Amino acid sequence: MLGNVKGKVSLITGSASGIGKEVAIKFAEAGSNVVIADLNIEAATQVAGELKKVYNVNTLAVKMDVTNEAEVNSCVDKIVNLFGKIDVLVSNAGIQTIASIVDFPFEQWKKLFDIHVHGAFLTSKACMKKMIEKKNGGKIIVMGSVHSFEASLNKAAYITAKHGLLGLVRSIAKEGAAHNICSNLIGPGFVKTPLVEKQIPEQAKALGISEEEVVKKIMLGETVDGQFTTTDDIADVALFFAGFESNALTGQSLIASHGWHIQ
Ligand code: NAD
Repeated sequence: MLGNVKGKVSLITGSASGIGKEVAIKFAEAGSNVVIADLNIEAATQVAGELKKVYNVNTLAVKMDVTNEAEVNSCVDKIVNLFGKIDVLVSNAGIQTIASIVDFPFEQWKKLFDIHVHGAFLTSKACMKKMIEKKNGGKIIVMGSVHSFEASLNKAAYITAKHGLLGLVRSIAKEGAAHNICSNLIGPGFVKTPLVEKQIPEQAKALGISEEEVVKKIMLGETVDGQFTTTDDIADVALFFAGFESNALTGQSLIASHGWHIQ
């Protein structure tokens, strides 16, 4: 059966908002126990409480900064102590910074890399260790982007980091195979979340065009139908990867973008 995550334990980073939150909702609806991990513990606690009430699954909210190795490890320990295992990691936490390369502040570049690349590495490492120790295998799903395959203006750090995540997913697929661990990347097109809402005026300013033009030309101009991808679309893809029965699907990427970047 596709999308079968009933009874699994799924850790989703950056799940207090946007895409990660929708993944947590979809997984809970499908019967998975879910861990809502985020910098924003108030919002994470609220999401965890609602999902427990609505879907009657076990939930846990943890304050996790994915760039902090000690915090990642202690959260993962806590999850395994409480639930006995981790079956699924969705490495999703992320930020965006809009600036041209020549104006890109190095501190912002490093911060973005820390969250996207080092955060995905640290959470994957901690979860893989537990999956191997418990001998229960697992699925590691990494939130890439169309920008794992394409470049655009004023996002060099994000684009470089998202390209880098392809290497991590492929490496986990190779090293995880002996332990029944699969890894795949999701490549969303533009999804209207706080991360995207924030960059519309920033791109308008950087490019000297209107906010309407940013949406129409920059964000949706290369889609086949001018439509935004939704959080629901991306959560469906995550559920597909998480619940895929065999190990046939590993080291791969799936772009969901209304046809932006047809491969
Ligand atoms: P969002 O801003 O709605 O949510 C991001 C979440 O990550 C927030 O809850 C935030 O608190 C959390 N976070 C940030 N830094 C963190 C850290 N250091 N540790 C733990 N949590 C942290 O953004 P979103 O649009 O839902 O983005 C989620 C992921 O999807 C990101 O990796 C993003 O790059 C990717 N993505 C988004 C789009 C899009 O159009 N929205 C497109 C492609 C890929």
